[in-house]
Amino acid sequence: MAKKETLRCMMCGNTDSKQTPVIRIFDGLNLCTDCISYIDNARDTALKQEKAENNSKTAGIHEQKDIPTPREITAFLDQYVIGQEDAKKYLSVAVYNHYKRIAQEAAKDKNAEKKSLKNAITDASADDVDIEKSNIIMVGPTGTGKTLLAKSVARLLDVPFAIVDATVLTEAGYVGEDIESLLTRLLQNCDYDVEKAQRGIVFIDEIDKIARKSDNPSITRDVSGEGVQQGLLKLLEGSTVLVPPNGGRKHPDQKMIAVDTKNILFICGGAFDGIERKIASRLNTHVVGYGKDESMKKHQRSNLMNYVLPQDLKSFGLIPEIIGRLPVLTALNPLDKEALLRILTEPKNALVRQYKKLFALDGVELNFTPEALEAIVDKAIEYKLGARGLRSIVETVMVDAMYDVPSMDVKEFTVSADYVNEKLNKANFDKVKLAD
Ligand code: ADP
Repeated sequence: MAKKETLRCMMCGNTDSKQTPVIRIFDGLNLCTDCISYIDNARDTALKQEKAENNSKTAGIHEQKDIPTPREITAFLDQYVIGQEDAKKYLSVAVYNHYKRIAQEAAKDKNAEKKSLKNAITDASADDVDIEKSNIIMVGPTGTGKTLLAKSVARLLDVPFAIVDATVLTEAGYVGEDIESLLTRLLQNCDYDVEKAQRGIVFIDEIDKIARKSDNPSITRDVSGEGVQQGLLKLLEGSTVLVPPNGGRKHPDQKMIAVDTKNILFICGGAFDGIERKIASRLNTHVVGYGKDESMKKHQRSNLMNYVLPQDLKSFGLIPEIIGRLPVLTALNPLDKEALLRILTEPKNALVRQYKKLFALDGVELNFTPEALEAIVDKAIEYKLGARGLRSIVETVMVDAMYDVPSMDVKEFTVSADYVNEKLNKANFDKVKLAD
């Protein structure tokens, strides 16, 4: 009888044994169980890595069919932001076009890889139109929803988002932060995944604070104005910049991260206090065929801010190059009483809903009478706090109830106008206002 052949693992060379049996995979390939599990693990790890890399590469890239339409974007924004219909429309269109442009470029890159050089040259004319990036500038009083709009759009698209303040910036060489540090927060918010960050959204608040102090370019240096605007221009138009990973000032031995800003959408916001005067004077000089009084009356009735044009931003002190890189210009309206009332109750995470939920967790139904809501809004208007002040007012009103109710045997708690006024008077709301 022929002697049974002893199998030997072709990877590690061990012979078949009880502890590590060697298996004939197919004729000519024998592997021991240790080596088989080693190969299995190695394959799993490689697959995971590949998946992670692909995820990172495609993060924030939406194929065109996945990009929500402008109407869908507005419908989403409606859940969080009250009013501001014009701003929503402009923002939705700009965001849609921006991500459509990225998707188109990604598709173009893919096609180019597939095509031979010859085909690429003959087809070039069809693909030749480059859609330019459309950064956005929103003009309107503070606390009217500019940041909220930008934040909500980023949430819908699931792209990295950062809010930065233009006031901390100064020209390189001066005290303050380098312009590139604007991107640090964005990188931090996506764990330094550069691919992802390069398709994110940056909201630059208080852009009006870096306006030149006068409309005339002056020979004297303007550290916080024109120099910063020149620096910002580089980011807005799209270029590769070196970002300090921890922000602040660059220093020579710090390792920098290269970020291409070509596909980063910049949304700028600013109150532009006093711009109405520039708009009014422009409208007066340009209206032909109407008496001055008549045209002014007409414009005053609606909000002058709605007539804002790029040249008003220039009169305010933004340099023309910056204005050119922020082609989508839209205005936000001051919030009136009706809008503030809606803000209290309607958005998905409206304050009233939040407090109701807090109480419901204790098994208590919380109610506000309509007069109570009005009293809260009146206070916000009286102290010129706008929507931003609603939270501190409601917090002041509710603190006693939140303290007492959990240890009381009640199933319902109703806040009336008298209750609101009593609590605000007791808390001496003036002080709260100053601290806000
Ligand atoms: P801005 O950026 O214009 O100064 P924000 O967007 O930061 O103002 O608004 C501050 C807060 O006020 C928001 O977090 C939100 O709670 C509330 N708010 C402001 N405007 C609106 C609005 N139009 N709809 C809903 N909430 C608003």
